[in-house]
Amino acid sequence: MAYDYDLFVIGAGSGGVRASRIAAGHGARVGICEDFRVGGTCVIRGCVPKKLLVYGSKFAHEFEDAAAYGWTLAPPTHSWATLRDNVAKEVDRLNGVYLRLLEGAGVKLHMGRGRLMDRHTIEIAGQTVTADKILVATGGAPVVPEIPGREFAITSNEAFHLPELPKRIAIVGGGYIAVEFAGIFNGLGAEVDLVLRRDRVLRGFDEECRTAVHDSLKQSGITMRTEMQIQRIQATNGKAPFTVHTQLGGMFETDLVMYATGRAPNANGIGLDKAGVQVDKAGAIAVDEWSKTTADNIWAVGDVTDRINLTPVALMEGHCFADTEFGGKPRKADHRDVPSAVFCQPELANVGLTEEEARMRLGEIRVFTSAFKPMKYTLSGRQQRTFMKLIVEAATDKVVGVHMVGDDAAELVQGLAIAVKAGATKAHFDATVGIHPTAGEEFVTMRTARVEPAPSRKAAE
Ligand code: NDP
Repeated sequence: MAYDYDLFVIGAGSGGVRASRIAAGHGARVGICEDFRVGGTCVIRGCVPKKLLVYGSKFAHEFEDAAAYGWTLAPPTHSWATLRDNVAKEVDRLNGVYLRLLEGAGVKLHMGRGRLMDRHTIEIAGQTVTADKILVATGGAPVVPEIPGREFAITSNEAFHLPELPKRIAIVGGGYIAVEFAGIFNGLGAEVDLVLRRDRVLRGFDEECRTAVHDSLKQSGITMRTEMQIQRIQATNGKAPFTVHTQLGGMFETDLVMYATGRAPNANGIGLDKAGVQVDKAGAIAVDEWSKTTADNIWAVGDVTDRINLTPVALMEGHCFADTEFGGKPRKADHRDVPSAVFCQPELANVGLTEEEARMRLGEIRVFTSAFKPMKYTLSGRQQRTFMKLIVEAATDKVVGVHMVGDDAAELVQGLAIAVKAGATKAHFDATVGIHPTAGEEFVTMRTARVEPAPSRKAAE
């Protein structure tokens, strides 16, 4: 049977756009659909605008530090409207770049929500198209728990478009998005309450790094409301200020509540059942190591599969799929040693195993740590420290984990991730000459393994 397309992609975010362009480059006839804006979460309301807001908020610290370097500044003022609108303009520009990339690659864009009608038919805004192969790359969306008053809360989706900066904001959650936005709003001058149900932020990261981030957030003036669950949000005549009632009977007031309590795969309402595509217990599309679903001609990549929910991983998965199916170059996405960063202030970045994972999986390990005040703050006196950690497998001398909490951690760890991926040993790190004076040179000058047992990792409350 002749299909309209060799490949049809549902969802024009990072993974979908990459897969469609590469497949088209291999000669496939490709169509793609999108129901919001081409570019997806990362470009439109995620990584990119978020990082620009992080840059914007960091100026506050720079202005403070400048005085010790001899600068006299008039008390700085900030216009949220200027930052918000400039970020929105950049997002529009990138959206245009993505549209042109698709056009240039010969990929036909259909605007509208795509729904599978059967294994080869997709309905988009009342139109049907057919395709030999289909890729689902619909991403994920924020989840807000069912509590009374949840309609008053925003998520990161809305945070980029606020009419004005709130004087006070309560951010709920202790993951990536919560700590990043806590830093953003704090830097821009809002009073921030970070409400988390555990004793520390960033479950799943290296325990000492979690503590370092937690303490830094507290040090920067954010009110850390730990081991707290919100029971309901009460508005004043339907708007701010809001009274936040906690499960233990406490309450506090704020001008805006933002939920960052995780994201769920966008797998509902897209006709997966009609095409025989199964989801797992968590509602993500189940895929094999080739990103193939339970339907023979349908694949899925990115957050909708809930593997590692990061843009570069979705890009890798989409690229591998397109090369395998259309380029005659079969290759699987490699989910090992994926570096990542959390753009809290200061940043956390890592690659490889946490200390806890390494102990469990590898047995004997050697741990090297360094904690210091960055040189820049020796003059300004800013109370911010840098923490670094190398984890080495004792039997092989291989560096199996690199972790850092500090300025520019993401930039540094990206380079070190190559060394870890290449199987570098601690001896390789020791043989590398440092660049002086930098924070990064610490990674090649840590000579003495930490004496066990490891220090207590509970945050100093
Ligand atoms: P995360 O899964 O990172 O964190 C969710 C947080 O919300 C956790 O602290 C979790 O607590 C808490 N939580 C979950 N349910 C509730 C609840 N009912 N009540 C109170 N707290 C709750 O999700 P995010 O939304 O922060 O981010 C989603 C994903 O987006 C990330 O996993 C990441 O993959 C990606 N991302 C990546 C970024 C980057 O690379 N820099 C930036 C932003 C997002 P607990 O630990 O107890 O489960």
